[in-house]
Amino acid sequence: MVVALSMVPFLGTVRSPPFVAFVAPCRRQISIHGSSISLPRNGFSPFNTFLQARSQSNSASGHAGEQSEIIFVGTGTSEGIPRVSCLTDPLKKCPVCTNAVEPGNKNRRRNTSILISYPRPLGRCNILIDAGKFFYHSALQWFPAFGIRTIDAVIITHSHADAIGGLDDLRDWTNNVQPYIPIYVAEHDFEVMKKTHYYLVDTRVITPGAAVSDLQFNVIREEPFIVHEIKFTPLPVWHGRDYCSLGFRFGDICYISDVSEIPEETYLLLEDCELLIMDALRPDRSSATHFGLPRALEEVRKIKPTKTLFTGMMHLIDHKKVNEYLSKLKDTEGLDVQLSYDGLRIPVQL
Ligand SMILES: [Zn+2]
Ligand SMILES: [Zn+2]
Repeated sequence: MVVALSMVPFLGTVRSPPFVAFVAPCRRQISIHGSSISLPRNGFSPFNTFLQARSQSNSASGHAGEQSEIIFVGTGTSEGIPRVSCLTDPLKKCPVCTNAVEPGNKNRRRNTSILISYPRPLGRCNILIDAGKFFYHSALQWFPAFGIRTIDAVIITHSHADAIGGLDDLRDWTNNVQPYIPIYVAEHDFEVMKKTHYYLVDTRVITPGAAVSDLQFNVIREEPFIVHEIKFTPLPVWHGRDYCSLGFRFGDICYISDVSEIPEETYLLLEDCELLIMDALRPDRSSATHFGLPRALEEVRKIKPTKTLFTGMMHLIDHKKVNEYLSKLKDTEGLDVQLSYDGLRIPVQL
């Protein structure tokens, strides 16, 4: 019974799907390392609790029944919107940050992250991409609202704080909801996490009985891998001149949250994209590490997805104004492009 669940002990091993032609465009070599790293603590394995959790997740109100969906857990830049400094500035008033304080305002943005949620026989499967600094606050707002209980896996795009800063907060899940959470991460980012989250990587260092997240780390290569029967194809992109971040393709959905340059080889993996979710930091220009809106639109014209949602916006992007501008592109160029926002929930085909 338990084995039939989507998570089993040591499931963490990356299973190889049928080989898909793949080229690794980043100069930085991600070495092959297919093994799962798991150092469980204390042998505690509350499967009954987990089973119950999945059952509750299935019956909770707010989810979309049999429909697969993406929930935008966060859509903002690292510092979040509003900026504290904008709210305390005695000399000028930042319109976006001022709006963002209002409850429900779409300018309120936390660190970029999405949750892929889809139905399975024993309850919905919830796969999170990134858990950044504000993950707790995002989850606090959206998980109860949408009936999300379990986190069945976390896939990491890169090891900056706005992508991994919330791993510590996963302890609430592994202590109270489910036995552990598999984490999928590229090797160079796993090496970073051995330093930044050393006590989560090797739980032998913690005081016996202390409560930390129980995570199973799975090192992924730049080739397709399977998580709970969903195939994820890494989309290597540059996030700054010397740093490779991963986007991910699942089904015909491509998610690229942190990008300053797309290698030519990665464009091949973006063909026939139905929904593109892509980085657009600021309205006027790109930064050293992120696309700005003009460059992001250039990329949309080149990639030609059916629909695009931008993410990772900073406080210079006003949701309403920029979306009005983007809406006009549908009339003039046939581009279906909008900004995403925290709490946006869209049905998808996986
Ligand atoms: Zn501001
Ligand atoms: Zn980053």
